[in-house]
Amino acid sequence: MDIGFLKMNEFTIQLNKLLNVFFLEVGIVSLTLVILFFLGQSIGHSWLLFSFGLGLYIFWHLYHLLQLLKSLSSQQILQASIKFGIWKEIWIQLQLFQQNRHSQKNDLITDLDNYRIFINNIPDAVIIINSKPNEQKTIIEWFNKSAQSTFNLKKKKHIGCHINDIFTELADYNFSTSKNNKKRITIHSPTDQNKIYSLRVTPYHKSFKLLLFRDISRIYWVNKMRKNFIANVSHELRTPLTVISGYLETFETHFKKDKKYLPAIQSMKQQSLRMNHLIQDLLVLSKLESDTGKLKKKKLIDVPEIIGSIIKDTQMLTDNKYQIEANIDNSLMLLGYENEIQSMVSNLINNAIRYTPAGSTIKIAWYSENKNIFFSVNDNGEGIEKQHLQHLTERFYRVDKGRSRSEGGTGLGLSIVKHILNHHNAKLKIKSQIGKGSQFICCFNK
Ligand code: ADP
Repeated sequence: MDIGFLKMNEFTIQLNKLLNVFFLEVGIVSLTLVILFFLGQSIGHSWLLFSFGLGLYIFWHLYHLLQLLKSLSSQQILQASIKFGIWKEIWIQLQLFQQNRHSQKNDLITDLDNYRIFINNIPDAVIIINSKPNEQKTIIEWFNKSAQSTFNLKKKKHIGCHINDIFTELADYNFSTSKNNKKRITIHSPTDQNKIYSLRVTPYHKSFKLLLFRDISRIYWVNKMRKNFIANVSHELRTPLTVISGYLETFETHFKKDKKYLPAIQSMKQQSLRMNHLIQDLLVLSKLESDTGKLKKKKLIDVPEIIGSIIKDTQMLTDNKYQIEANIDNSLMLLGYENEIQSMVSNLINNAIRYTPAGSTIKIAWYSENKNIFFSVNDNGEGIEKQHLQHLTERFYRVDKGRSRSEGGTGLGLSIVKHILNHHNAKLKIKSQIGKGSQFICCFNK
């Protein structure tokens, strides 16, 4: 057997060989007893001689059994004291078995040492904890050298400590129920608040769990700076844009009949409107990104009402040019964030309208199936080629940039939808066929 480092040489007692020797011995002894019996006839004591031989044989077995038991109980290396018969074979087999166990034990010790050296040399901090399901405390069992230096841990002081005493941020985390999930937890170092770690919890044996900490401070702070920068720029651009839009409105009324300037003013107005949408979407996105969803409390939302009112607005704005078929389960509510769900529904319905020619049918559904709740928007528009599908939720990814811009798109809608779904532990599935249409399905847990 070879499991990674673990090499185990299997050894089995060779029963066939033992039986062969045993039967040979029984044959020789039987023959000797028969000879003794006949020899005894000549002196008139055949049974006596026979019984004497048999007794001697039984005594011989009992003696060796006793020797073996003595040797086994002494837990020392077995040493055969006999050079023939079944007992010689038993001793040889047991000696081989003992040697094999010994080398297995040595292999295991070497492997264990290798593991220890290996884990000790991992540059990331590793902590092993024990969290028994019916016990409140999660105890630190072991940590590597990197954990010692990173979190200032001391073997004598911290082994046996409650993990939450060191990482207070993990107070709400239930280690005893955590399964092997790929989700990482972002935490601050208890010794330095500027150091950020991505923690992964991996259960590996009964109630034991391996905590692996990866230093993500650089990425974290760069990302934070980027998010803040986008949020600040978007925010700062709002005021000048409002002023420009205001003046453009005035100019438009002033130059109403002027064919020379009016088209330029209207084009500027359209572009400032686009910029306004872009800024709004950027602000929504940076708010969604900075909001981890932990601060707000989820509420029971009347999603059917939200869908109904967005459909009504859409029909009004599009002059009923689209046939909207709604299949809504009116009794189905969702625990979540109302504004975000409203934004998700409106983004997906707007996209269906934007990328589908007038007169088409758009099917909207809100239903539950098995343990999930679904919101789906189905259109019979132009469809999306397969290679684009995985990129659609990236910021500013557009299949046809010109088309998106001319329809008033910002390239941020599906990115916003993805973030909203992340906040709700939900998933987005996109199916599409060129010439047949697209389907956007949001899958929530019940
Ligand atoms: P945009 O503001 O450009 O619509 P989105 O993030 O909402 O940005 O969508 C990204 C891209 O996905 C769009 O530019 C478009 O190419 C494609 N797309 C989204 N929805 C549809 C749809 N229902 N049918 C066809 N293409 C779509």
